Amino acid sequence: MVKLEISSPAFREIYRVDNEGIPVFKSYIAGEWVEGRFFHDVKSPIDQSIIARISIPSSDDIERALEIVYRYGRWDIRNLPGYKRLDILHRAADLLESNIDDIVNSLILNAGKTLGSARGEVKASIDRLRRADLDLRRIQGDYIPGDWSDETTETEAIVRREPVGVVLAITPFNYPLFDTVNKLSYSVIVGNAFMVKPSSLDPIPVVMFIRLLELAGFPKRALALLTLRGGDMEKILADPRIGAISLTGSTETGLKILRSAGIKQFVMELGGGDTAVVLGDADLEWSAQRIARGIYSYSGQRCDAIKLVLAEEPVYEKIKRLLVDELRKVRIGDPRDPSVDMGPLIDVEAVDNMIKAIEDALSKGGKILTGGKRLDNTYIEPTLIEAPKERLEEIEAYKKEIFAPIAIITSVKSVEEAAEISNKRPYGLDAAIFGKDINKIRYLIRHLEVGAIYINDYPRHGIGYYPFGGRKNSGIGREGIGYSIEYTTAYKTIVYNYKGKGIWEYL
Ligand code: NAP
Repeated sequence: MVKLEISSPAFREIYRVDNEGIPVFKSYIAGEWVEGRFFHDVKSPIDQSIIARISIPSSDDIERALEIVYRYGRWDIRNLPGYKRLDILHRAADLLESNIDDIVNSLILNAGKTLGSARGEVKASIDRLRRADLDLRRIQGDYIPGDWSDETTETEAIVRREPVGVVLAITPFNYPLFDTVNKLSYSVIVGNAFMVKPSSLDPIPVVMFIRLLELAGFPKRALALLTLRGGDMEKILADPRIGAISLTGSTETGLKILRSAGIKQFVMELGGGDTAVVLGDADLEWSAQRIARGIYSYSGQRCDAIKLVLAEEPVYEKIKRLLVDELRKVRIGDPRDPSVDMGPLIDVEAVDNMIKAIEDALSKGGKILTGGKRLDNTYIEPTLIEAPKERLEEIEAYKKEIFAPIAIITSVKSVEEAAEISNKRPYGLDAAIFGKDINKIRYLIRHLEVGAIYINDYPRHGIGYYPFGGRKNSGIGREGIGYSIEYTTAYKTIVYNYKGKGIWEYL
C-alpha cells in the first residue's frame, strides 16, 4: 500500500494525521491555513490507495479569501517594489531546491510520475521561478506623441501596462507543480495577487508549494489556495473581483469556464495531442526514437504528446517497424522503481477511456501494431494503431484527445496531404516534422494550423523559454517567458493636455 510520508518540518503546519494514519491537508485563505468541515480523498495512481485527504473550503472561507485578496492583497503585492517580488520568487526556488525530496516524492506518489519525470518537473519549476527576471523585458509601455493630428496637437499619451489585480489559476493534474509555478511567475512579477485551484486528482504538490511560497515571504493577503472540485467553481469564475483566469486543462473545461466567467482576460491552455510528419529523407532511427518518447512519456498524459504519425509512403513501412521496436522496449511499472520508463495512468477511468478508443479504432478498420493490453487497473501498454486513411475522420482517437499513451499511424502521398489530415483535427497545439527537404519543411511550416512546430524532435514545451499555446480548440493565448504578461496586465492610456483647456474644442 502506498503511504505519503513527509520529512521536512517546513510542512508541519499544513496537515494533521487522522486516526487512520492519513495526512489531512488544509487550504490557504489569504494568510491562514484553514481546515473545513468537508474533505475529499486523494488517491495514488500507483495502487489506488488513499494517500491523503484534503479540506474543502466553505463558501464563507471562499468569500473571505476573495474579499481579502481583492481589497488588500492586490495592493500589498502591487505596492511591493518589483525587485522584492522577484526576490520572493527566487526564495521560493531556493526552498523548492532544499525540499526537493518531499516534493519529488509527492509527484511520484500522487501523480504517478517516474523519478526522472518528477525530478524534471521540480527542476523546471525552479528554473521558471529563477527566470522570472526575463519576463521583465516585456513589462513596458508606449509613448505616443500627439503632433501627428490636429485633434491631438499640444497633447501626448503614455500607454501603461498595469496588473489586472487578481489572477485565478486553474491547474491540471499532469503538471500540478510546474503549471502552478508558471502561472504564479507571470502573474506576480507584474504585481497581481494570486489564487490557485489545483486538480482534485493530485493537489498535494501544489499545497506543499503554497506553503513554501508563504515561507518565501509572499504577502499573505495576496495569496489563496482553493482546494475545491472543478464543478463547484461556477460562482467564483463569474466573480467580478477576479481580473483574469489562467486555465490549463481540457477543451471541454475551457468551454465551461468561458461560458461561466463572463467578460475577463483569459489564458486558456487546452487539449492537444500533436501530429508528427515523417518525410522521405528523415533519419528514421532518430525519428522513431523521438516519436516513441513523444507517445509514451508520462504515459501519454501530456498536452504535447504525439497522437498522430503521418509518414511519406516510401518510408512508411520502415518507420512503422522502427516505432514498434521502440515502443516494445518501454519498461512499464511502479514509478518508484528507477528502471521504469512509464508508470500508471492517473486513474482507472483514464485506462477505461483508452481501451474504449482502441476498440473504437478496431471497429473502424484500425489494426494494433503494438500494445493495447491492460496490465492492471491503471497500467496499460503504449499502443500504436495503424488506421485506414479514408476512415480517419470516423475514429475517436483522431477526432478527440485521448489522454493516454496511444497514437495512430498512416501513410501520406505528399506534404499537402499531411497538412490537410493534420489540420482536420479540431486541435492546433503543436506539430513535429522529421526530415531535411527545406521546401517540404517550409510548406508544412506555412500550412500547419498549430501554435508551435518542432523540427527533428518531438514537441516539448519545457519551461516556456520558447512560447507555446494553441490555435483552434487548443486554446487562447501563449504561455512563455515574457509572453504571458500580456494576459495578466491591462493597458491604460494616459493623455496629457498641456494647455489645460481648448484642445478638443473644434470636435
Ligand atoms: P481538466 O479535467 O480539464 O481539469 C483541469 C482543471 O480544471 C482541474 O483543476 C479541474 O478541477 C478544473 N475544472 C474542471 N471543471 C471545471 C469547471 N467547470 N470550472 C472550473 N474548473 C474546472 O484537465 P486535466 O485532466 O486535469 O488535464 C489534462 C488536460 O489538460 C488535457 O486536455 C491536456 O491536453 C490539457 N493540458 C494542456 C496544456 C497546454 O499547454 N495546452 C498543458 C497541460 C495540459 P477538478 O480536478 O477538481 O475537476
